[in-house]
Amino acid sequence: MTKTTSIICVLFSTLAFFIGYQLHPKNQSTSETVSTTKTFHWKMVTTWPPNFPIYQTGVEDFAKDIELMSVGRLKIKVFAGGELVPPLQTFDAVSQGAVQMGHGAAYYWAGKVPAAQFMSTVPFGMTAKGMNAWLYNGGGLELWRELYKPFNLIPFPAGNSGVQMGGWFNRKINTVDDLKGLKMRMPGLGSKVLAKAGGTPILLAGGEVYTALERGTIDATEWSGPFLDQRLGLYRAAKYYYYPGWHEPGTTLEFIINSHAWAELPKDLQKIVEIRIHSLNHQIQHTLAALNIKALQELKEKYHVKVLEFPPDVLKKLKSLTSEVLEENAAENMSFKKVYEAYKKFQIDNAVWNAISNDAYSRALQE
Ligand code: CA
Repeated sequence: MTKTTSIICVLFSTLAFFIGYQLHPKNQSTSETVSTTKTFHWKMVTTWPPNFPIYQTGVEDFAKDIELMSVGRLKIKVFAGGELVPPLQTFDAVSQGAVQMGHGAAYYWAGKVPAAQFMSTVPFGMTAKGMNAWLYNGGGLELWRELYKPFNLIPFPAGNSGVQMGGWFNRKINTVDDLKGLKMRMPGLGSKVLAKAGGTPILLAGGEVYTALERGTIDATEWSGPFLDQRLGLYRAAKYYYYPGWHEPGTTLEFIINSHAWAELPKDLQKIVEIRIHSLNHQIQHTLAALNIKALQELKEKYHVKVLEFPPDVLKKLKSLTSEVLEENAAENMSFKKVYEAYKKFQIDNAVWNAISNDAYSRALQE
């Protein structure tokens, strides 16, 4: 190519560029065009067993909807706990970018991020209603994102168990002394409270709970609410079903997304993901709420389970031991203290409003 030809080529390309620019003045950047045609292939791991109802099946529905709404531009392959990585490696797998997304609950990561427990549940903490208000509109989600930032993770509230049940027992709990020496499956901060009350907390994965109770390796267990507990068959291994679930008053589930993967998504796909997560958060709550009604009826009528309330003195003692546990953890960890203070303030303010709304209305219905 001669020098003259090269100059002509450069001039021509420059001219062509400006003509193109004039013809498509709004198409200044090609990124919008690219973003609408590029397909993203993501992997999601969860902490739930395969086919685990509502939670695992819920995130599988989520992935199908995302593919539909993005017209195939974002495809998410879902793996249950153990299918790609062990359930409790979900946090690390997403943090390290081995997969883009995970579903579980923040208290599973208490060993790495003690303050994360407030983002799932703490004993005598807030119910789903309070948690959603705090997370979405009370500064909770900002604190959560701050906690996970060093791990390259963006968390989203993605489901809630509702108020859980207190658990399955083979002997009655009439006083706090009845908890002494009791070997009970209990996760999270509730286990520290149980230990202070003289019990022996034992942590078992869901798949091991029924056999341990049936064989007497443990004396009692908590799991979730009527529907999920019925699915685990716990009514066949214990006859007393206590309420309320003081240790898990409204466990928030989470989606975690690798921050680099999130940044690569075009804005419209981010919005689709965000809005469908929001809908999953509520979908899990209202689905369980309806299923628990029916399961509780069956447990009582078909399986003759005795549904009993913990005596007020037992709950009062557990509540005061919970304050001790929370204060001790706050004294040991600055970040736990910061989140605890924010959480506590919102819970107290929320209780003032609840007292004259939900609580007053519930009393009015009973009178
Ligand atoms: Ca539980």
